[in-house]
Amino acid sequence: MTLHNFIGGAPAPAASGQTFDNPNPATGQRLAKVARSGPADVDAAAQAARRAFEGPWRGWSANQRADLLDRIADAIEARLDELAALESADQGKPVSLAATVDIPRAVANFRFFAGAARHQQLPSHPMAQALNYTARRPVGVFGLITPWNLPLYLLTWKTAPALAMGNTVVAKPSELTPMTAGALAEIIHGCGAPEGVFNVVHGFGAEAGQALVAHPGVKGISFTGGTVTGQRVAATAAPMFKKLSLELGGKNATVIFADADLDRAIATAGAAAFRNQGEICLCGSRILVERPVYDRVLMGLTEYASSLTVGPPDHPDTTIGSLVSLDHRAKVEGYVALAREEGGTVHCGGTRPALPAPYDQGAFLSPAVVSGLPISCRTATEEIFGPVVTVHPFDTEAEALEMANGVRYGLSASVWTNNLRRGHRFSEALDVGMVWVNTWMLRDLRVPFGGVKDSGVGREGGDWSLEFYSENKNICIHLG
Ligand code: NAP
Repeated sequence: MTLHNFIGGAPAPAASGQTFDNPNPATGQRLAKVARSGPADVDAAAQAARRAFEGPWRGWSANQRADLLDRIADAIEARLDELAALESADQGKPVSLAATVDIPRAVANFRFFAGAARHQQLPSHPMAQALNYTARRPVGVFGLITPWNLPLYLLTWKTAPALAMGNTVVAKPSELTPMTAGALAEIIHGCGAPEGVFNVVHGFGAEAGQALVAHPGVKGISFTGGTVTGQRVAATAAPMFKKLSLELGGKNATVIFADADLDRAIATAGAAAFRNQGEICLCGSRILVERPVYDRVLMGLTEYASSLTVGPPDHPDTTIGSLVSLDHRAKVEGYVALAREEGGTVHCGGTRPALPAPYDQGAFLSPAVVSGLPISCRTATEEIFGPVVTVHPFDTEAEALEMANGVRYGLSASVWTNNLRRGHRFSEALDVGMVWVNTWMLRDLRVPFGGVKDSGVGREGGDWSLEFYSENKNICIHLG
């Protein structure tokens, strides 16, 4: 199979005719040949999106656009099993996870933003002699650049509000996980979106991604990916004054106080460390534990990690699938070796499981729990983005705060305590964009999502998305 770009309502090969191979990371077998796009393809997609923006799409009312989003949600839901299998084969995640999290969340994204756009309320500011009211206008063509860890989940998180607010889209999925973006383009078009409203350009970041960010006809960029790539994206987009949202890397702390409900804390901290093979930006990869319960938590986490089933992603009992690529596994294995060099003890995992063919060619790695590391070492401060967690003791709340805040990242944290005052106090003092107390990754799509420090700039979610994907305009009417 060849996965083409999707431009102006139809599949289109790359202008150069070039393709690249997209393997299933769990087997090494080729899933598809994929269009390898460059600036010419990006330009064709941006022009198609511009024509749609200035053409029939402009006449669609907010309610018509919301109805389209609802139809898209229904269409994704109707193909849930097929899309879950495709996502799992492309990314390596357990199919059970794709079927219960990734694809349902894609459905929810469209349903939620259909409702949010229908029900949005805009402020007015009356004066004695005039009335100000805020109107929201679409921005134009948006470039949406997404990573490989949650391909459809994150692409729909951006696409739904962008379309709800009347923009058109050129999407550039990760070259490692392009499959469900191709399916989404067909679904959106099949649900009645005018030609050119949603376009997909496949290819490498440095070629297609860079060309999309640099294209003068693309008025806004929503980027989710690594911090270093985000710096490049910002440097390219800023001189053109594009609207820019950057959701970047993380090194999130899970902080467990001695008064917490330890059984729940251990099970949730384990899930937070290893779900999706540890390849979620919100994963808690540093676990800070108050000393009186340190040994118990370390043992519990080791038992938890050892109980996970590493295996074929398409097997219903698998809880840890394949990492996204052999290259990424080599990077994660490098961190396990580094942890040992830095003086850490690896209590379990960090090894390649023995699996039968064809999975013996896959990028599998068993989940690793590491202790004994200084909190400032590279293993404990750099983003690994894989199934490796480090565990560290602390003695005081102040020390825990310093450890939690002592990294360049500031995406999220999870705090475990039954002391309500401490829960509030500690959450307020954390330098992160999102805190969970006695839970993890409990998501309400109305709330602001994003990070501080090197974890990003801007917020998406709920009204923050509606605002980002539009231009606020004040209209002042004199009442005399
Ligand atoms: P990445 O290497 O930064 O890539 C992200 C996207 O950017 C991919 O589509 C990539 O294309 C593209 N890209 C690469 N170079 C580019 C350039 N010069 N201009 C424009 N686009 C370019 O990140 P990743 O490895 O896919 O994803 C993992 C990272 O994403 C982790 O750091 C993780 O924390 C972060 N993440 C953050 C969030 C959040 O909400 N904060 C959520 C999920 C993931 P190619 O794949 O083709 O190179």
